[in-house]
Amino acid sequence: MKLLTYTVDKRNKQKLGVLSQNEEWIYPLTSFGIEYKNMLDLISSMTESESQLLTYASRKDPDAVPGAVCLKEVKLLAPIPVPSQDIVCLGINYMAHAEESARFKNEKFNGERPYAVYFSKRVNQCLEPEGMIPSYPGFVESLDYEAELAVILKKDAKNVPAEQAKDYIFGYTILNDVSARDIQNRHKQWYFGKSLDGFCPMGPWIVTADSFSFPPKLGISCRVNGELRQNSNTADLIFGLEHIISELSQGMTLKAGTIISTGTPSGVGMGFTPPKFLKSGDIVECSIEGIGTLRNTVQ
Ligand code: MG
Repeated sequence: MKLLTYTVDKRNKQKLGVLSQNEEWIYPLTSFGIEYKNMLDLISSMTESESQLLTYASRKDPDAVPGAVCLKEVKLLAPIPVPSQDIVCLGINYMAHAEESARFKNEKFNGERPYAVYFSKRVNQCLEPEGMIPSYPGFVESLDYEAELAVILKKDAKNVPAEQAKDYIFGYTILNDVSARDIQNRHKQWYFGKSLDGFCPMGPWIVTADSFSFPPKLGISCRVNGELRQNSNTADLIFGLEHIISELSQGMTLKAGTIISTGTPSGVGMGFTPPKFLKSGDIVECSIEGIGTLRNTVQ
């Protein structure tokens, strides 16, 4: 099932909906008597029977659902417009990206990655599907894209054994970990260069965990102006979801609603010689099999 946040009025009042199975209609959750303040509220509180009801409802004809609206006629927002905390990110979590990243920094990569690399990304507001990625002329020289599978936790996780990690996952979405390479290199740390306003496009919706076998093995790609730049599979993650959730939760409580972005495959702009950084007017499309496509334009 695909859950989304959308708006139908100019004041951007948020509504929650479930996508119809043919992906043409949105059925408001309130049509089924399900009321939550926002997606984070739903994630931490949705019951099993509500989940079953919505899965069933998504298969209905739009005529049978009061308040059904056509997907084309609404504005989608990021499924979680305002995360409750910084996003937990994985760095260099696909082998081929480790190689291109080392090459860009004129460093040697010895093919070993014994420990996962974790960092965080400040996000005051996630950018919506079709939203404009700011390019910061005069401040950012090398704007880059990173298509990533993001996982969202449904309950607090502490000391989770690897084999139980999947029980903590609410669902998955697509995240573009937009990065200013010059800023991240200049400041010797990824945090600032990845945390500028508008650098976290997310969406177009959340696919619930029950939609995929675990761990999900999904094609992941990124196109810029139609040119295929990244093309991999989440099966190629160096550190998978069980490892990440289990390891982090040994030392820190991962709260319900936590978003973990699992890292990007090779083919980012800095990986090319010469680099292919983003410029104004570029259309960036991040796609993951079974989820959809997150499309944004550079301002
Ligand atoms: Mg990244």
